[in-house]
Amino acid sequence: KKIIIAIDGYSSTGKSTVAKQLAKTLGYVYVDTGAMYRAVTLYAMRNNLITDNFFDKTKLVESLVNIQLKFQFNPEKGFAEIYLNGENVENEIRTLNVSNFVSQVATVPEVRKKQVEQQHLLGQEKGIVMDGRDIGTVVFPEAELKLFMTASAETRAQRRFDELKQKGEEVTYEDVFENVKSRDHIDSTRKDSPLIKAKDAVVIDNSALSLEEQFEKILSLAKN
Ligand code: C5P
Repeated sequence: KKIIIAIDGYSSTGKSTVAKQLAKTLGYVYVDTGAMYRAVTLYAMRNNLITDNFFDKTKLVESLVNIQLKFQFNPEKGFAEIYLNGENVENEIRTLNVSNFVSQVATVPEVRKKQVEQQHLLGQEKGIVMDGRDIGTVVFPEAELKLFMTASAETRAQRRFDELKQKGEEVTYEDVFENVKSRDHIDSTRKDSPLIKAKDAVVIDNSALSLEEQFEKILSLAKN
């Protein structure tokens, strides 16, 4: 029987790595909901709706009708990439610049409502692994398996820093660490759908586990 697997947790806890691996092993569809909030943020940045000292929420909400998001499977990469109004923005949404604004954008209730509606539609074909912050609590409270991933802020910042460096981004560990902590704070204190563990979620703390150990544990949960 194909099920819905909801993976939530703090920034850079390895949610997407686990989710992609699970989807591949089980033959499920993987949906990265963070990519959706990131793409909306990229749109807002490009249209000067958000800067360091300015955020025009009203204009962003009005602009939502002009933001079309789509996922398209890339066989070479083995997962679906995100398209913003027809343009592949998979790489551009991963920069630290977008990371620095995305949590503010994700506090806007209308932004969340629109993404959650689309996420619901994507989940209609069962056999789905979806990762984010509110999947087990808001998007699919009925999901058969819920995971909540955590790790120390240092572990997570180091992981994200290594990733960005590898992509050639000029960043410092301190900047990444600040971003991780700031997003955690905004995500867990926002009024609308804050990041909290669903009551029935299994906690995975991956500071201690290797990727293989972690995956074995999760796969056995998914198969039960
Ligand atoms: O998962 P990722 O780190 O790419 O998500 C980027 C940001 O998008 C998060 O820090 C959070 O602010 C927002 N987000 C959210 N709800 C989701 C997924 C992501 O608010 N379901």
